[in-house]
Amino acid sequence: MSQKILEVKNLTKYFKAGGKQVVHAVDNVSFSLEKGKTLGLVGESGCGKSSCARTVIRLYDPTSGQIILDGQDITHMRQKELQPIRKKMQMIFQDPYASLNARMTVRDIIAEPLIAHHIIRKKAEADEYVFPMLERMGLSKEHANRYAHEFSGGQRQRVGIARALILQPELVICDEPISALDVSIQAQVINLLKDYQEEKGLSYLFIAHDLSMVRYVSDDIGVMYLGQLVETSTSEELYSHPLHPYTKGLMDSVPVADPKLARQKEKSSIEGDIPSPINPPSGCRFHTRCPYATEACSAQMPDMKEAAPGHWVACHLYE
Ligand code: SF4
Repeated sequence: MSQKILEVKNLTKYFKAGGKQVVHAVDNVSFSLEKGKTLGLVGESGCGKSSCARTVIRLYDPTSGQIILDGQDITHMRQKELQPIRKKMQMIFQDPYASLNARMTVRDIIAEPLIAHHIIRKKAEADEYVFPMLERMGLSKEHANRYAHEFSGGQRQRVGIARALILQPELVICDEPISALDVSIQAQVINLLKDYQEEKGLSYLFIAHDLSMVRYVSDDIGVMYLGQLVETSTSEELYSHPLHPYTKGLMDSVPVADPKLARQKEKSSIEGDIPSPINPPSGCRFHTRCPYATEACSAQMPDMKEAAPGHWVACHLYE
């Protein structure tokens, strides 16, 4: 029987935006992730995927809902209680330059979590852990004494990944880990993450706005729009039979090499900007941009329905 590393139930995260205004960043989102698997969360920027990830890892306190990590409810744990839990759950950030301390050597950056979690007592003990991890990340022990600014973007992200993996977490939240990298480097970093997953059996929650790369890394995919999940299924099923008009629009905006096909895709991709999460549209939040919208769409929010085995979609077209 499969075991779940993460269960997220009806998770909601609102932020105050001055006065009585509230940003509906994450609204009633539910999903689960099996051990050793990858769940991709995709959507345009501003769709709430990063807020969702940061709430799951408890960088933000949830407004409501439940977060269960490896069978343990962590929703309302205080920071002190969370300390031992953080060892199990780590994060890789989008911008490795911003997330690495410029004044610390790579050795100290990677060793910092080991000291914080009392795995080693002093920096002098770090090399035993840091050197093999640097080598595992395609770097070498000679890199340990250097500073982040001395590396290329791809190398810096490898250091960021090494820092996240040094504690041997069970769940890693990858928040757009390749978006800031050159296309030529992206595949290398993805392969590194995939190889490590195969070796250690860890699980990834992989956040991205680009559907093409998410397809390659994910077993399952959740598509988010304006704080809500609108479609979930296995990666294979989603790419072969996308159902939600928003998912189809996202697929159409994936770049293709053939100029004729690219022109056709441009015509059918989503128009307009994502509305403000402060005052989201009534009913189906996608109705202001959806080519199939009817009156019912602005009046009533569609529920998630299982349109095919394991394939869930929130759209009145499939009721
Ligand atoms: Fe479009 Fe209506 Fe479906 Fe929303 S519910 S995606 S507006 S057809």
